[in-house]
Amino acid sequence: MRILVVEDDEDLNRQIAAALSDAGYVVDSARDGEEGYFLGDTEPYDAIVLDLGLPKLDGLSVLEKWRRAGRTAPVLILTARDRWSDKVAGIDAGADDYVAKPFHMEEVLARLRALLRRAAGHATNEIECGPLRLDARAARVTVNGTPVKLTSLEYRLLAFLMHHQQQVVSRTELTEHLYDQDFDRDSNTIEVFVGRLRKKLGADLIETVRGMGYRLRDGGDED
Ligand code: CA
Repeated sequence: MRILVVEDDEDLNRQIAAALSDAGYVVDSARDGEEGYFLGDTEPYDAIVLDLGLPKLDGLSVLEKWRRAGRTAPVLILTARDRWSDKVAGIDAGADDYVAKPFHMEEVLARLRALLRRAAGHATNEIECGPLRLDARAARVTVNGTPVKLTSLEYRLLAFLMHHQQQVVSRTELTEHLYDQDFDRDSNTIEVFVGRLRKKLGADLIETVRGMGYRLRDGGDED
């Protein structure tokens, strides 16, 4: 899962980015509204953390421009405390949730998890697929109840597939969602990680759809 953080306060931006990457997400950071708008308009993020008070272009305008351009990534806005009018304006502009400053990082993480699983159509932190169970809060994976140790990239890859069950996900899509913008992307490495996941989870769970990408199988019906 790849997340964009748009926040002009350097310290806060770094803190949020660090907490998100500790939680297993890939993070890109922008420090003004123009850069934030551009990244959100051109890169495929799974969710966006957007401060409203930003230089060059304010957060509300950034959000309105994204929504007008058809960008639908879930957006969590950061608002100043006691500015209820900001929250209303933000939600009217297309925000999915908000956190008021100052906040506990845990709250940002919890709200982001909720946005991500809502976008994937799940009501709880636990996502299941056949024998697989992923606990997004603890970043833990089990197969038939047995914990499986995954590297952070293996976890990210599996989490993305589990949030997109029943869909064929292309290698390009995976590289775009598993690496940040500065990473030298090579979609061949995805194949290597899929191979490792198959070894750890069982060979049948991740199906290769020739010429198109990968699909997570629930081990049940052929479809
Ligand atoms: Ca600000």
